Amino acid sequence: MSKLRFRVVEKAFQSKPLEVSAPTERPSEYFGKYVFNREKMFKYLPSTVYAKLVDAMDNGAALDRSIADQVAEGMKRWAMELGATHYTHWFQPLTEGTAEKHDAFVEHDGKGGMMEEFSGKLLVQQEPDASSFPNGGIRNTFEARGYSAWDPSSPVFVVDDTLCIPTVFIAYTGESLDYKAPLLKALRAVNKAAVDVCHYFNPEVKKVMAYLGWEQEYFLVDEGLYAARPDLLLTGRTLMGHEASKNQQLEDHYFGAIPARVAAFMKDLEIQALELGIPVKTRHNEVAPNQFELAPIFEECNLAVDHNMLIMSLMRKVARTHGFRVLLHEKPFKGVNGSGKHNNWSLGTDTGVLLMGPGKTSEENLRFITFIVNTLMAVYRHNGLLKASIMSATNAHRLGANEAPPAIISSFLGTQLSKVLDHMEDSSTNELISLGGKHGMKLDIPQIPELLIDNTDRNRTSPFAFTGNRFEFRAVGSEANCASAMIALNTAVAEQLVEFKAAVDALIEKGEPKISAIIQVIREYIKICKPIRFDGNGYSEEWKAEAAKRGLDCETSCPVIFDQYLTEDSIKMFESAGVMTKKELEARNEVKWETYTKKIQIEARVLGDLVMNHIVPVATEYQSKLIDNVFKMKSIFSAEEADKLSAENKAIIKEIAERTSYIKEHVDAMVQARKIANKITDEREKAIAYHDTIAPMLEEIRYHIDKLELIVDDQMWTLPKYRELLFIR
Ligand code: ADP
Ligand code: MG
Repeated sequence: MSKLRFRVVEKAFQSKPLEVSAPTERPSEYFGKYVFNREKMFKYLPSTVYAKLVDAMDNGAALDRSIADQVAEGMKRWAMELGATHYTHWFQPLTEGTAEKHDAFVEHDGKGGMMEEFSGKLLVQQEPDASSFPNGGIRNTFEARGYSAWDPSSPVFVVDDTLCIPTVFIAYTGESLDYKAPLLKALRAVNKAAVDVCHYFNPEVKKVMAYLGWEQEYFLVDEGLYAARPDLLLTGRTLMGHEASKNQQLEDHYFGAIPARVAAFMKDLEIQALELGIPVKTRHNEVAPNQFELAPIFEECNLAVDHNMLIMSLMRKVARTHGFRVLLHEKPFKGVNGSGKHNNWSLGTDTGVLLMGPGKTSEENLRFITFIVNTLMAVYRHNGLLKASIMSATNAHRLGANEAPPAIISSFLGTQLSKVLDHMEDSSTNELISLGGKHGMKLDIPQIPELLIDNTDRNRTSPFAFTGNRFEFRAVGSEANCASAMIALNTAVAEQLVEFKAAVDALIEKGEPKISAIIQVIREYIKICKPIRFDGNGYSEEWKAEAAKRGLDCETSCPVIFDQYLTEDSIKMFESAGVMTKKELEARNEVKWETYTKKIQIEARVLGDLVMNHIVPVATEYQSKLIDNVFKMKSIFSAEEADKLSAENKAIIKEIAERTSYIKEHVDAMVQARKIANKITDEREKAIAYHDTIAPMLEEIRYHIDKLELIVDDQMWTLPKYRELLFIR
C-alpha cells in the first residue's frame, strides 16, 4: 500500500464509535424543540396574532402584513432564548441544495449602541441577487432582482445559531426560480381538484392534502478514505475502482445488524432530526455494503419536502462528527446498488380519509377506485414527464441500468387490485347489483368486495407501485429534491381529476345517475390507461420491447428526456393547473441542460487529472520495476532461461503499456471532444453532445484503469480501493 493509503486505511480501521449521549427526556418531549410550532406560537404571540397566523397556515389565507411585526418579534424572542444570533431566508433554488444568507439580529439603536432587531418586513420578504442562482436566463445581471417570500405553511426553525425561515424564491417579474413555489401551486391545484371529486362521495370534505413519506437511501464512507479519493470529493461518485472480490452477492447486508459506528451516527442523527421536528422512524442496512436507509412518518407534502432537504444537510453535518462522509449520489459505486429516495405518495382528506386506501362499504371502495384509476390515468398520460421529473446526470446511472427502477415508467398494482379493475372493466351494466349504501342510498355498484389489500404483494422493479394505501414512486434519486417529482405528479393528478369531474358531470347532466356516471367514466379510463399497468419484471429485455409497443416513453438519454417538459401536453397541463408557465418551463429546462453539461464536464476533468497524476505514474513506476527485473534476470540466468522465467512479467509490462497508452489517448480525445462541445451555444445541443460523446468515454477509460488496478502492485496503488471504501465502517 502506498504510504498515504496505508495511513488512511489504518486510521479508518481504528475509528471507534462516538459515545452519543441521548437527551435525558424522551423523544416525545424533545420532538420539535427547535421548531416554532403551534405550541410556541401560542406562547410567544398575542392570541389575535396567533389566530390569524394559524388561519394563514391551515387555510392558505393571505397573511395580514399588519401582524408580521408581531410575529417576527415573537419568533425573535423564542429564537434568542435558544441562543440564535442570526436569521436567514432558507430557500430551495434550482441547485441540489438549499440556500441561506445569515444576517445578525443587530441594528443601531440610535444612541451609539446596538440592539437586537427583527422586523416583520425582514421576516416576510427579502431580495437575494437572483442572477447568482440558476435561473435559465430569466434574470440577467442587469435586472438581477429576485425575492424570497415567507411560506407560513412550513414552520421556522433554529439550526445552530440561526433562525431559518422557509421561503419561496421568485423573480421580480413573478416567475418561480425555486422548487417550493411551483410545489405549493401544484398542491393547491390537486387540493381543489380532489375536493371537487370527493364531493361525489362526501360533501363535507373541505380540504385534500397530498402526503409524502420519503425513504432516503445513502452510503457512509470513512472520512479519511473519502479524502484520499479526489473523485468522491469533487463529483460525489467513484469514477474508477474495480469491484471488490466480495460485494453484495451474499445479500448479507440488507437488514443486517447495524455496525456500531454507524449506529452511533444514526442515533445522533435521529435525535437532531427529532429536535428539528422531523418525525424519523425507520432505519436499516440497505442492500449494498455500507448502504443504509432512513425514513420518517409521512407528512403533508410541502413540509415533507422541506424536511427531506433539511435531513440531507443534517446527515452531511452529523456524519462528519462521526468520522464519516455521507454519499447521497445515486450511484457512488459501480457494480453495487445505487441509492434512491422512494416517494410514498397519497391523498387524504381533512375528514381523515386516505383516498388511496380501500374502505369497508362499496361506496368507500368506489371512491378508492376513483382515485386509483385517476392516478393511473395521470401517470399513463404523463409517463414521459414523470420520468423527466426524476431524471438527472447522477440518477441516469441508476435508471435503466438493471437496478431499481427501469427507465420506463409503469405501475404495479398487485394481484388483488388488478383483479378488481379487470372485473370492473369486464362487467357490463346489467351485471351491476344493487347494494344499500350509507344514508339509505340505493347504489348501483358492481360488486366491489370488501377490499383487504395487503401490501405483501410487492414488485421491487416497478417504478410506481401501489402499496396498500399509497403509491410508491421509486424512481426518485437519492440526492434529488423530492419537489421535482411531487410537482409533476400532483399537477398531473390535478389535471386528471378536473377532467374526470367534467366527464362525470356531463353524463349526470344528460340524466345519468351519479354513481353510474362515475362507473362509466372509470370503466372507460381503466381501458385507456391499461398500457401503464405492468406487474412483470421491469428489468427484462422483453419489457423494453413490450413497453415501446404500448407507446410508453422509452427514451434513455437524459438531456432528451428533459424535452418532455416542453411538449404541448405538458405545457397545457402546467399552465391549466396554474403551476408553471411555458416561459418558466423553458427557463428551467435551460438550467437542467446546463447542469447536466457541467456535471459531465467536471467528471471528465477529474478523471483526466486522476489519470495523469495517479494512474499513469503509478502504473509506469510499477512497469519500470518489472522491466528492471527482466533485465536483471538475464544477469543470473542463461538468456534462454531468463526469457522463459520473465514471460509473465513481460506480459504484464505489455499490458500496462497498452492500457496506459489507450488511457492517455482517450483522455486527450476527451479533451478534444469537450472543446468541440463547449463551442455549441444551444444548451440542449451541448448537453446532448456531452451525453453522446463524452459520457461514454468516461466509461471506456475507466474500464482500462480498473484493469490496471488488478495488475499493479497494491503497495504502490495510491487510491483507496472498493473493498476499503465499502467494507470499513
Ligand atoms: P417500506 O416497506 O416500503 O420500506 P415503510 O414502512 O418503511 O415502507 O414506509 C415507507 C414510507 O411510507 C414511510 O415514510 C411511511 O410513513 C410512508 N407512508 C405510509 N403510508 C403512507 C401514505 N398513506 N401516504 C404517504 N406515505 C405513507
Ligand atoms: Mg418502500
